[in-house]
Amino acid sequence: MAELLLPQRLQERISQHEIDAVIAEAKGALLGDIKRSAYIYRVDCGGCNACEIEIFATLTPVFDVERFGVKLASNPRQADILVYTGAVTRSMREPAMRAYAQAPDPKIVVSYGACGCTGGIFHDNYCVWGGTDKLFPVDLYIPGCPPSPAQTIYGFALALGHLGQKLKPHNHVEKPGELTAVISGLVPYSVQVALERHARLMAGYRYGRRLVEEFLHALEAGGDNSLTSLDAHIALEEDPRRVEIFESLKQVLLSYAIRA
Ligand code: SF4
Repeated sequence: MAELLLPQRLQERISQHEIDAVIAEAKGALLGDIKRSAYIYRVDCGGCNACEIEIFATLTPVFDVERFGVKLASNPRQADILVYTGAVTRSMREPAMRAYAQAPDPKIVVSYGACGCTGGIFHDNYCVWGGTDKLFPVDLYIPGCPPSPAQTIYGFALALGHLGQKLKPHNHVEKPGELTAVISGLVPYSVQVALERHARLMAGYRYGRRLVEEFLHALEAGGDNSLTSLDAHIALEEDPRRVEIFESLKQVLLSYAIRA
């Protein structure tokens, strides 16, 4: 029988020391300068309950989301982060809005699961309004049906980052004639915005921005042969998820080039 070989990158054994370094870097990037715990209050607007099971799994000792300072609140008045699960049903519309009104500002609203994000499989049900954003502005979407505990922890860590930004807001007042800082002088600003939006949809708010910076730097490094340089950069990439995102960004870039 032919021997089954794992891809090269999976055959290499990563040392515990390297894993610890990667985890420390990821924690530093995600948690930023958060120095306090955040309380979450969960509102089930009408799902199948599997999302709740995953949220409770993240609170168990196995995943232990409390180590990142995330705790459950029993009352929306004590909450920093509101997590809405399930599609918004007619009967839950009022309680959902009451919880939103009762949570003190600044608050973060999280749409959890496919149902919370869009209405999910219940979206065309006669008693469903749709996703949470049909009622009020949503800061963060955690997609999945249901999202895994790892996705949930990642989403909560991003929510903590948003909370930090809301607690220490930076209001920039544009001066007359002020130009916006751009990552790359090669790609027009409107295209950079489109690339960043696309990357953030695929990889989240913080990591999406980093990927676009990397993408544009790879383009710039090639000078007149920018696309060749980008292809070489993608060819060296080992993580299939990053390859998929870079390829997708390239398609966005090319669609603008064709229109021009
Ligand atoms: S997203 Fe999936 S798991 Fe969560 S409530 Fe909807 S159907 Fe259930």
